[in-house]
Amino acid sequence: ALKAGIVGLPNVGKSTLFNAITKAGAEAANYPFCTIDPNVGVVEVPDPRLQQLADIVNPNRIVPTAFEFVDIAGLVKGASQGEGLGNKFLSHIREVDAIIQVVRCFEDSNITHVSGKVNPIDDIETINLELILADMESIDKRMEKTKKQLKSGDKKYQQEVSVLEQIKTTLEAGQAARTLELTEEEWALVRDLHLLTQKKILYVANVAEEEVANANANTYVEQVRQYAAKEEAEVIVISAKVESEIAELEGEDRQMFLEELGLEESGLDRLIRAAYKLLGLYTYFTAGVQEVRAWTIRKGTKAPQAAGVIHTDFERGFIRAEVVAYDDLVQAGSMVTARDQGKLRLEGKEYIVQDGDVMHFRFNV
Ligand code: GDP
Repeated sequence: ALKAGIVGLPNVGKSTLFNAITKAGAEAANYPFCTIDPNVGVVEVPDPRLQQLADIVNPNRIVPTAFEFVDIAGLVKGASQGEGLGNKFLSHIREVDAIIQVVRCFEDSNITHVSGKVNPIDDIETINLELILADMESIDKRMEKTKKQLKSGDKKYQQEVSVLEQIKTTLEAGQAARTLELTEEEWALVRDLHLLTQKKILYVANVAEEEVANANANTYVEQVRQYAAKEEAEVIVISAKVESEIAELEGEDRQMFLEELGLEESGLDRLIRAAYKLLGLYTYFTAGVQEVRAWTIRKGTKAPQAAGVIHTDFERGFIRAEVVAYDDLVQAGSMVTARDQGKLRLEGKEYIVQDGDVMHFRFNV
């Protein structure tokens, strides 16, 4: 399963946010692909399309799709040099598919800041530098090995050296590896290095409770936005403390509390959606009388593999899929009408599933 890792300096609000995630979160038991681990929180992806589909199909239940957040505490200055448990944390980051960096944008004299004062850009640069240093080490090690292999005369190694050199130059300039433009084929040569700065990133600006409704007045947030804009990264403004309170509430109480705060939805919901997008994930639906359900695939997944997310038998015995786009189905108002309008398609093994496709699989057992 795909995972997003939460990182940040100590005392920026990571645990508070992670607690909100686990409190609001789904039981891993409902999502067999999810890990049962105290550092992993399972979140359901809020998707208004599910209710729309349910209105058409009247199912017994609605099941959203889910993915995992991992709490990666302990990243500090010097982590790449193995200070403290530094290297161990960096190896945890290696295992995630995208990075959520929490940045402290709230003032609170009772809560110590590791470097003495609130300075979000300094904080971001401290973290990002550790990631860059860790990547440099990976690149250097690989370079040594590749240069030896070069002697075999295989051209492939020549290309690899060139890619490694380009990445190294980028890192030395203080830039993340992901900013480098390489072809798919070139990236494939270094994929097994799991470079930390190649992973996509988004920033969470953690503001004070009283600022959530008016975060634009917070100059720290503005600084984070400017920094992120340069990297084309997204910024989600939340108050971790408020989120942990929201997560305690349900139904109407929750709605009322959000209204009091002047919010349309919880920051956590916004964060979940942004992280889902960052991970490059698509949702397709199954819509039967038993359940209307959302399923997660990576962009570019073909129909049999998409079916395999439901069950491996579906993939193995795949014959074809009946597909209707979400918009077409909603417009038609019923499956029968969609069929009459010619919106229901039969697709085969090579079909690339699109976000919002409503799928029905035919398969051999
Ligand atoms: P971590 O070290 O990054 O995991 O940080 P914690 O989540 O433990 O938070 C550190 C301290 O900051 C705790 O005392 C939190 O209650 C406090 N804190 C977290 N978010 C906020 C916030 O939005 N406003 C205020 N005033 N305090 C917060």
